[in-house]
Amino acid sequence: MSEFIFAKLFLKEFILVNILFFVTVVLILSLSWKSSLLLFVIQFLFSWLLYFFIGQKRKKDISEISSLIALIMEKRKNAIEEKNLSPELFEIEKDLKTLFKKNQKDFANMRKLAKTRTEFLGNVSHELRTPIFSIQGFLETLLNGAIEDENVNRRFLKKAMNHTKNLNSLLNDLIDISMIETGEMRMQPTFFNIAELINSVTEEIENIAKEKGIKIIEKYNNPEIEVWGDRDKIKQVMVNLINNAIKYSDNGKIKVFTEVKKDKIEISVKDEGSGIPSESLNRIFERFYQVDKARSKVVGGTGLGLAIVKHIVEAHGSKISVKSKIGEGSVFTFFLKTQ
Ligand code: ADP
Repeated sequence: MSEFIFAKLFLKEFILVNILFFVTVVLILSLSWKSSLLLFVIQFLFSWLLYFFIGQKRKKDISEISSLIALIMEKRKNAIEEKNLSPELFEIEKDLKTLFKKNQKDFANMRKLAKTRTEFLGNVSHELRTPIFSIQGFLETLLNGAIEDENVNRRFLKKAMNHTKNLNSLLNDLIDISMIETGEMRMQPTFFNIAELINSVTEEIENIAKEKGIKIIEKYNNPEIEVWGDRDKIKQVMVNLINNAIKYSDNGKIKVFTEVKKDKIEISVKDEGSGIPSESLNRIFERFYQVDKARSKVVGGTGLGLAIVKHIVEAHGSKISVKSKIGEGSVFTFFLKTQ
């Protein structure tokens, strides 16, 4: 009978206990050989009965656990939740159900990751293809004779040049984002003067703003204050935010201002540009998300700038927030620690 096979695990212990019991009783009660034989027979029968019950219980427990495992393998979520094992198996039941939930979560994450990777590759190839095709087109036109045409040759070369610039910034952004996401971008925090950093960034970018008739205004309520962070990375954040403010404004002012709050300093970049539709506000920090793809293409956007900003700001234990109104402008704010 299979019950005995299930109890086999305890066979040695069983025989040992029986022998000990038999010998002890025989010795203590000084039984005759007849009584001893009777005791042996009775004890043997009881033992086998007990052995059978133990086997039966083990068989039942194992089959209960197997049926739960079978449901897990078939991924029958509702059936798994409804399935209850005997109270003694509660711990095993709890562990198996937790394991199932964790596996489900891991699978979902893996699927999401695979989807993100495919989407990312699709986006990258698409973004690379556009400038490469354009450069190829301009060069072909020039080679086919336009090079001799004084009216267009310089214009076409300039356009090809602009596309190589876009290509270059796309590749730089891609390198940054992949370094951030693989954890290779190490933060090297120090104390540095934020007003001085913002000032150097605006000086570098001022000319691009001037060409569009945009004025950059800086306002610091405490220009001496030092912040804790990676200077180069924060510089990149400021460059991306101020560049966006210029790119998405046709005129008006850009205000870069700071405000000290307890042990933090709030840094804001405010523009009077196109503004962002409310439904896009929580999507603009996603990789490759652009409100108006056509406009971004014209102004040389890669769709990665704000994703990089978000990563860097969050790596400083901070958060980037945005307020915007269509036609009135946008303000991007984040904070840095001052102590
Ligand atoms: P891009 O390189 O296209 O500018 P970003 O990641 O920097 O990519 O920004 C994502 C999108 O958010 C932009 O395409 C643009 O639609 C919108 N955006 C970002 N900054 C501003 C801003 N200051 N004003 C209006 N729209 C903005």
